[in-house]
Amino acid sequence: MKNSKNVLNYLFGTATLGQLGEILDGRRQQKSDPVVYCIDQYFTKNPMIETLPFEKQDQVYYIDTSEEPHTDSVDSLVTTIKNSLTSGGFALPLSVIGIGGGITLDTAKAVSNLLTNDGKAEDYQGWDLVKKPGVYKIGIPTISGTGAEASRTCVLMNITKNLKLGMNSEHTIYDQLILDPDLTKTVPRNQYFYSGMDTYIHCIESLNGIYRNAIGDAFSREALNLCREVFLSDDMQSDGNREKLMIASYLGGCAIANSYVGVVHPFSAGLSVVLGTHHCVSNCIVLNSFEKFYPKEFEEFQRMKEKQKVELPAGITSGLSGDQFEKLYLSTIIHEKPLNNALGSDFKKILSREYVKEIFQRM
Ligand code: NAD
Ligand code: ZN
Repeated sequence: MKNSKNVLNYLFGTATLGQLGEILDGRRQQKSDPVVYCIDQYFTKNPMIETLPFEKQDQVYYIDTSEEPHTDSVDSLVTTIKNSLTSGGFALPLSVIGIGGGITLDTAKAVSNLLTNDGKAEDYQGWDLVKKPGVYKIGIPTISGTGAEASRTCVLMNITKNLKLGMNSEHTIYDQLILDPDLTKTVPRNQYFYSGMDTYIHCIESLNGIYRNAIGDAFSREALNLCREVFLSDDMQSDGNREKLMIASYLGGCAIANSYVGVVHPFSAGLSVVLGTHHCVSNCIVLNSFEKFYPKEFEEFQRMKEKQKVELPAGITSGLSGDQFEKLYLSTIIHEKPLNNALGSDFKKILSREYVKEIFQRM
């Protein structure tokens, strides 16, 4: 097992968002220190905004969630932030805060890293390429499942390179989390299921991999227990279940920081890169056609889906060209670490071009 790091500080519980001001005040050297907020666009006109401890010098950016973050979109946001800091006479902000789902949390992580490390987002896509700690960052999730709040990566699409890959680094881990389950009350039902299932999928992939280890396994097992309690109950979005899913998401993020994903995520990344389908729904579509790779979990997934009466998009690959199937193959097979984790070093023999195409055709 590699030398592991987790989030240093976290608050958990309803109404803990109210403590953000105190946390910031505790770090402020001067009253005029600016804070950079990246906030999910959903909250533009939401009363939650009124409760944030904004100061006049703070910068607030609403993050568009119609597309998952791209290296280019992150670079342009960083340029805007740097220009604005310079014109206000500041070198760096006091903190970068991400408030939202995985898209917003990942954007804030990337911004924090790029404010202290020169170059472009794509320079850091890979493992342990970020050299300096980023700006002190606070993560406040408003939807549970991806574990982005806990993990050591921020996933970015790089269209030119046909690649979906994060800045995997210790410096990408949040310094402080505020886990306030009140914030997930408004998540639409299908989205709640898709994002929540990301935890389930991270953990089953980790437990079925060859790089599993005792600590990753312990995080995964408890996260899976919580997912089962939530998704096999009558009301997955009850107050108690939203709390449980927030904890599961955090534990799932820790699990994956200590191990690797498996076959679902590479196929899901292929769908996101080629068709633009979002991460969590893509994962569900992939697991839904993976009876062969994960038979027990496939069956449990069907029970959860039926219990919650959630529908999945169907026929998303119908009518694709040969060229598009080739791109799907290439953007799947590129994920060597997780595929090796799941299938061993001969994964390319198992996942032949024809077989991969056949699997995608079922989706
Ligand atoms: P998201 O950020 O994609 O948001 C999903 C939708 O829910 C958006 O429309 C958003 O506006 C909305 N939303 C968020 N909070 C809401 C709320 N409280 N009420 C109403 N609507 C709300 O959500 P996600 O599924 O958490 O994140 C997916 C992203 O996470 C992908 O970009 C994926 O690549 C990334 N990801 C990152 C990691 C990591 O370790 N860093 C792991 C897995 C996935
Ligand atoms: Zn995931």
